[in-house]
Amino acid sequence: MEKIRDVLSDNFTGKEVSIRGWVYRIRSSGRITFIVLRDSTDIVQCVASSDDLSADAMKDLSSLTVESSLELSGTIRKDPRAVTGYEISINTYKIYERNENFPIARDLGEEFLLDNRHLWLRSREFTAVLKIRSTVFKAFTDYFYGNGYYQVQAPMFVSTATEGGASLFNVDYFGEKVNLTQSSQFYLETMIFSLEKVFTIAPSFRAEKSRTRRHLTEYWHAEGEAAWYNNEDMMEDEEKMIKFIIDEVLKNNMEDLKIINRDPARLENIKVPFQRIRYRDLIEKSREFGMNLKYGDDLGADEEYGIMVHFDNPIFVTDYPESLKTFYHRPDPDSPGEILCHDLLAPEGYGEILGGGERIYDLEELLDRIKKNGLSPEDYYWYVDLRKYGSIPHSGFGLGLDRLVMWICGLSNIRETIPYPRTIRRVKP
Ligand code: ATP
Ligand code: MG
Repeated sequence: MEKIRDVLSDNFTGKEVSIRGWVYRIRSSGRITFIVLRDSTDIVQCVASSDDLSADAMKDLSSLTVESSLELSGTIRKDPRAVTGYEISINTYKIYERNENFPIARDLGEEFLLDNRHLWLRSREFTAVLKIRSTVFKAFTDYFYGNGYYQVQAPMFVSTATEGGASLFNVDYFGEKVNLTQSSQFYLETMIFSLEKVFTIAPSFRAEKSRTRRHLTEYWHAEGEAAWYNNEDMMEDEEKMIKFIIDEVLKNNMEDLKIINRDPARLENIKVPFQRIRYRDLIEKSREFGMNLKYGDDLGADEEYGIMVHFDNPIFVTDYPESLKTFYHRPDPDSPGEILCHDLLAPEGYGEILGGGERIYDLEELLDRIKKNGLSPEDYYWYVDLRKYGSIPHSGFGLGLDRLVMWICGLSNIRETIPYPRTIRRVKP
């Protein structure tokens, strides 16, 4: 049995091939039936002709419907009129399952398609996105394995918040109230004392109450922590990682980018190092774009869009004011009120895909920040302990892999990046 992509080559012309998969399109005209068959690799036009097949066989094949499953053998030839440039003349076949009526068709409503996500995700475009997503996940992991990091795992049931209480999901845990994790960061920090550099890929859960194009309630979070790193060291690893992932997509997914109409030049033109801009300077610069931001304003999806439509390369925004970030960020001793952190904003209007920076490592400073944020140090005793026993400077980051896929694929909604998106309004199928 061959895979379709492999037989779409002049090496196979005139040869007998066997393939199996699903009916992608079918069209009959009396003595001839065209079946476009798809498998995980590609699609190919197959033709059943009454010159080669019995009347029963012709009836069998011409009455198939979209998404029926079958295998077939036949001779393959180059044919520029066929959808992927080759055509197979069917000699023998075996039908696995004959469909009644596949419910997915063009021009169906958004809600209907979301209810039928389990079927919709077979579409050619979505398949291409999932292949790119697969490359992104692998490349992220490969990059860090190649740079002295260990892969670790953190729990999903937790009793502390990292990003504030408003977006916590509560779970009844044998009568006790616990949360689903918002980030694995604090657990990763505990592991740098033995492993020094660690990363993880895991879901993070956030009860995002507003509906935006870039928020899921369950998303895939790629996080890293590195001992001895300062803010700049961290950014250097991150930009190389992003560039590596993009190069891997360009190496492995050219066909998939074509299927989803993504111009590869957008990705080929990404250059490292990425520009670093202080938050303070970005606020100034945003005036050039006709925006009316002032120092201290938070940058949400709209503001980041307004800025990043003017960029073709990602930028690091550094040194945000303390008031805009959570308590664990390390204040800049040389610039009171600002912290040693960065967000990575993707071009073409996409905005934030990653946040990172130095973590507070001084015990008193951490206790002070915890209290100032109205939290109780006892709840964070294990996180505080790290500042008592061999504390060291360190940095880390969190990257939203779904958002990275969204930008790489040029998609307009984060839902299009993940098989089963979880949002405020949807947890099925
Ligand atoms: P935003 O301002 O967009 O809500 P954030 O500041 O809350 O993002 P962080 O807490 O820094 O984000 O999380 C790290 C990364 O995780 C973000 O840069 C983003 O890529 C991703 N991320 C955060 N929240 C979500 C979400 N609800 N859905 C998908 N990805 C998310
Ligand atoms: Mg958020």
